[in-house]
Order: sequence, then C-alpha cells, then structure tokens
Amino acid sequence: MNDAAIRRFAREISRSHRIEKGGKFRLRDHDPADTGPLDDEDKPRAREALEAGRAALAELQDRLYAQDRWSVLLVFQAMDAAGKDGVIKHVMSGVNPQGCQVYSFKAPSEEELDHDWMWRCARALPERGRIGIFNRSYYEEVLVVKVHPPILRAQKIPRALVGRKIWNERYQDIRAFERHMARNGTMILKFFLNVSRDEQKKRFLERIEHPEKNWKFAAGDVRERAHWDAYMDAYQTMIRETAAPHAPWFVVPADNKWYTRIVVSVAIVDALSRLGLSYPKVDKATRAELEAAGRALAAEKK
Ligand code: ATP
Ligand code: MG
Repeated sequence: MNDAAIRRFAREISRSHRIEKGGKFRLRDHDPADTGPLDDEDKPRAREALEAGRAALAELQDRLYAQDRWSVLLVFQAMDAAGKDGVIKHVMSGVNPQGCQVYSFKAPSEEELDHDWMWRCARALPERGRIGIFNRSYYEEVLVVKVHPPILRAQKIPRALVGRKIWNERYQDIRAFERHMARNGTMILKFFLNVSRDEQKKRFLERIEHPEKNWKFAAGDVRERAHWDAYMDAYQTMIRETAAPHAPWFVVPADNKWYTRIVVSVAIVDALSRLGLSYPKVDKATRAELEAAGRALAAEKK
C-alpha cells in the first residue's frame, strides 16, 4: 500500500468507530470482537498502517509542540483488562516524551475529596503544544460512582445537593467543561475500549495462571465484574450524553488487541492531521538574525 492508500484506509477505520452525536447510541450495536474490514489475513497490512501511524504521529506531535497553540487530551475508559495500559504504551511509543504526559486516576485521595470532582483532572490537563493522556478520568464520576452509591455518599458533597438529578447534572457539567476546553484550543478524543465479558474472563484467568502476569490481577477486579450490566448501562448513557463533534467518543472493539491498537492510533493521527499544524514561520528580522548567526559559525576558526 502506498501512503495515500494507507491514509484512506486508516481514516475509514477510525471514522467507523467515531460517535459524535450520542442520540440513540446503543452499545449492543457495537461488537467487541469486530475487526472492521480486516481479517487475520490483513494483519500484515494492519501492521503497516500501525507503523505508518506511529511515524505520522511523531511528526504531528513535533509540529504541535513547535506551533504551541493546540493541546490534545486523550481520555481512556474501559473495564479492567480491556487493554488500556497496552494501548497507551503502544500508541505513544514513537512520540517524544517531553511533549506527552500520562495521568492515571485512581480512587480519590483525602485531599482530592476536599475539592470538587473535576479539580484533580483540571490540574492535570495538558499545556498548549502537548499531548495529555488520561488513563481513567472525570468520567469515573458517572461510571464507578454511579454503579456504587456508597462512593457518592463518601464524597463530602452537601446533602442538599445530592438528589435524583445528580447524574444529569454531572453529564451537563462534563459537557460544559469539554466545550470550554475545546473553545480554548484543546482537542479532545475519548476512547472507550469495548471488551466483552467473555474476553475479560479469559484475560483474568491468564493473569492468574501466568506468574509474570500475576501482578496485574487484583481480586477486586472480579468483584467489579459482577456489576457488568450496571457498568454497560452507565457506559451507554455516558456516551449518549457526552458525545459531541468537538469531543467525540470512539467505541473501540477490544477483544482483538491488534485491532484496538490500529483504531486508536489512526483515530489520533486522523484528528491531529485535520488541525492544520505547521511550524511557526520566522519573520524577516529573525531570518536575518539566523543568517548572520550562520555566517558567524561558518567563519569560526577550526
Ligand atoms: P491497572 O489495574 O491496569 O493497574 P487501573 O486503572 O485499573 O489500572 P487500579 O488501581 O486497579 O488501576 O484501579 C483504579 C480504581 O480507581 C478503579 O477501580 C477505578 O474505578 C477507581 N476510581 C477512579 N476514579 C475514581 C473516582 N473518582 N471515584 C472512585 N473510584 C475511582
Ligand atoms: Mg485495575
């Protein structure tokens, strides 16, 4: 495949999983085992696309940094063992670490609970010119917190403010926050890695069976699994309520890791390449300075 063909192919794949309007979005229309137009025979082509994507991303990031106007926020949400860590590692392996920050959000600390729930995420947002990756995010506030009411009760929010409308209020606040960020030059892309319940079980068993994977397994993960349907419901509502053209969700099939990585990689490259990133132009005076410096260097004695 030549470059143009790879780009076309990549764009097609990423667009087919992009949700810009929540509307009637239904999770059950999205198969976790989907591999788009690709099957096992296409894996070499897929690998090519991934390689091309990695090189393209490195270049785009360089321009993003040099231009210093846009920032990029990549949000990853998923059930355990869906492959968040692997995807982040894989996709970012080619980028310059100086222009990229990863934050993993766990259960909030005492200090974090002393603030509104957006606080810790707002502090971690990427600066202009940088790519910020959220491994979990403020979306936990309408996922784990919604699935487990005791977590909400422990949040120290005045009781009068915790009513039946709280989830709608949170979606509303997230929408407002993301609109604000987008209007200030943050490009937001959100990824839901959609793994099936069966595949999760398989991966948990692997983590238990293989000593080198034991560290990845937490007994609590199996307890969360018992709430699968409540989680899927929460994910579906979350996507319906917060998908927007300026902050799309990508529902990424996650039962086949190779395909998950392709979709995430091409989605990022596709979105970044539409920002019109370019290196800053130097003005006449700076050009003259550069030329003078060049002459001085050339004239230096050995
Ligand atoms: P890994 O298991 O791959 O190391 P992880 O993201 O699952 O990564 P854990 O430490 O296992 O990391 O889990 C973090 C936990 O913190 C998750 O169960 C998540 O739901 C929980 N969490 C994150 N944000 C919040 C929040 N705002 N309120 C309550 N729990 C939260
Ligand atoms: Mg975990």
